[in-house]
Amino acid sequence: MSIATVNPATGETLQTFAALTKEEIEERILAADAAYRGYRTTSFAHRQERMRQAARLLEEDLEAVARMMTLEMGKTLVAARAEAAKCVKAMRWYAEHAEELLADEHPSLADVKDSGGARVLVRYRPLGPVLAVMPWNFPLWQVVRFAAPALMAGNVGLLKHASNVPQTAVYLEDLFRRAGFADGCFQTLLIGTGAVEEVLRDPRVVAATLTGSEPAGRSVASVAGDEIKKTVLELGGSDPYLVLPSADVERAAKVGVTARVQNNGQSCIAAKRFIVHAKVYDDFVEQFVRGMSRLAVGDPMDEATDVGPLSSERGRESLEELVEDARERGASVLCGGRRPAGRTAGWYYEPTVLADISARMRIDQEEAFGPVATLYRASDLDEALRLANDTPFGLSSNVWTRDADEQERCVRDLEAGGIYFNGMTASHPGFPFGGVKRSGYGRELAAHGLHEFCNVTTVWHG
Ligand code: NDP
Repeated sequence: MSIATVNPATGETLQTFAALTKEEIEERILAADAAYRGYRTTSFAHRQERMRQAARLLEEDLEAVARMMTLEMGKTLVAARAEAAKCVKAMRWYAEHAEELLADEHPSLADVKDSGGARVLVRYRPLGPVLAVMPWNFPLWQVVRFAAPALMAGNVGLLKHASNVPQTAVYLEDLFRRAGFADGCFQTLLIGTGAVEEVLRDPRVVAATLTGSEPAGRSVASVAGDEIKKTVLELGGSDPYLVLPSADVERAAKVGVTARVQNNGQSCIAAKRFIVHAKVYDDFVEQFVRGMSRLAVGDPMDEATDVGPLSSERGRESLEELVEDARERGASVLCGGRRPAGRTAGWYYEPTVLADISARMRIDQEEAFGPVATLYRASDLDEALRLANDTPFGLSSNVWTRDADEQERCVRDLEAGGIYFNGMTASHPGFPFGGVKRSGYGRELAAHGLHEFCNVTTVWHG
């Protein structure tokens, strides 16, 4: 895949970029290693000042950055602005909280035999240069979610961004440099996937984080495993959205539409499988389908647009293949199921709702990365939970119920890294984010994300 900006709204190639040569990659790893040696011992105040400056600069650049993201991967301008603003907040959050979250811990020695007067502390020390392999769907947020905690912890970053968002990738390096982080603290590697293994095997690169598809995760994790290097993986999701009899059905349907089509349907934490109790099924389906059918599909730069194009031609083809497979195997198409009429350019797809899903359909077990929802009818909570867990993924989940016992059952039994009641999944720097099963492992955000790339060191003073 070439490294290029191709406008998903028109299919036009706007700018291409040359991949780094082997020598240029070596220069950058060398710079990361050198930068780390100095940066690792800087004070929190030093890092904090620079992170706050990065937030200020991004805030100033917000409109231009939002337009760049929309141009590169097709999210609506409104969503792109919100993404950039969220990054500003996350940078400030880590600038504010990192010191306290990385403070020394003093475990009690009361139960330790023969500890006679010893003191022990746990210190969170940085690890070194970390490789971040990132996707295009939230081209700024996915990177900042890694970079802000990593830099505050004293690590340095090497970014291999998705090949279709090179301008955003270059901007991020520039942002951190302008904010005052020393050269080499955060660098973008414009490289294809073929060059990732060599970077990861380099002894100066100590760990990796990847957000993206299962094959990409498997590939990076197996190289890292071979090199005994730590990885965090945030892979796909096929999140269940349960609607139970005590739900506010009107709100559940309205929020469900947003939860499915956010980011033009290309979000790992989008609600994808709608599992509805038989008692409220007809009511929910009617309102949900009405909401999906009324969405405005169109130019992502237009502020009235709800759903823009998919990020790539291949992305749309993959989605179409899933829908066609389901249709051939008996799914009912309640709305959408095709490209919008009259749009010849751009990779648009109509918001789609599929019912009568069965286990023979690929979409039952695979992630639909676009505005396509699947519906399941459940006769009781047991069946709803069984359907919810009948997936290789376990990223997040949503449940609409006001019944405290049902909520407790869900917390006990749902196989997912997040459970959101009466609302949609959203990430925040203050709480951890990540999945189980094939959605990956490790956590991002909060103290958990900050500690992933730390050497958790026990210090004993006898
Ligand atoms: P990929 O997983 O292919 O891309 C994500 C990142 O991984 C990109 O930087 C990509 O680089 C890189 N990458 C891909 N393959 C390898 C590899 N073998 N070794 C090292 N790096 C690799 O996502 P796609 O864009 O192809 O999307 C495919 C599917 O992945 C989607 O339909 C969706 O299901 C899932 N996905 C999930 C995301 C999430 O947020 N969890 C985000 C994006 C995709 P390059 O761009 O150069 O190929």
